[in-house]
Amino acid sequence: MNIVILLGAPGSGKGTVAGALAAAHDNLKHVSSGDLLRGAVAKGTEAGKQAKSYMESGNLVPDALIATMIKDVVAETTGDVTMLLDGFPRNLAQAEILAEMGTPVKSAVLIDVPDEIIQDRIAGRRTCPKCKAGYHVRNLPPKVEGVCDVCGEKLVVRKDDNPETVKDRLVVYHQQTEPLIAYYKDKGLLRTVDGTTGVENVAAAFLAAM
Ligand code: ADP
Ligand code: ZN
Repeated sequence: MNIVILLGAPGSGKGTVAGALAAAHDNLKHVSSGDLLRGAVAKGTEAGKQAKSYMESGNLVPDALIATMIKDVVAETTGDVTMLLDGFPRNLAQAEILAEMGTPVKSAVLIDVPDEIIQDRIAGRRTCPKCKAGYHVRNLPPKVEGVCDVCGEKLVVRKDDNPETVKDRLVVYHQQTEPLIAYYKDKGLLRTVDGTTGVENVAAAFLAAM
């Protein structure tokens, strides 16, 4: 098993691209820290109870909490698999935790989207609560309005996708997550793809870059 890290702002389309790639390639596994956390909140586990208020305010949950969840997934993943790690690490401390886990990191791919575009993307975002597929009301609409193409579930707006919380998430991103770009660049692992060219093109560019 090895790891490819996805870097990019909230709304950069990391999750959509990783999901599309994992669906098309048997040896790619999409692991989203946000989905793991939302799953824990929905189930009402101890970790979920601890994470809930941080997430709703747009802050990062404590490093140890998410690191434990990621370690569990890494431990149960074996064989000839590349894990597309989406949302972890989210700060330098988490990057060190990941390095200590010892699983080789093949590359860190930044999906680059200018700030101006980000706000609009998140505002139009719709999510399937059941299968986690992501949509956008204009850029990537479902075939039937408000309904998931994949599983037929009713689409929702994520609780932390309201404009106020989005602002806070972007501040957190710039302060805590963006330093990872230099961190992986120093290690010679950084690749950058243009995130504004549409899901299929970004996915193809990502695959070539990783
Ligand atoms: P997005 O990339 O759109 O901001 P995610 O689904 O990755 O959203 O994350 C949603 C929320 O989950 C974050 O705002 C944060 O509270 C929490 N979270 C996700 N990953 C991490 C992480 N690695 N460390 C701390 N908190 C995290
Ligand atoms: Zn669905």
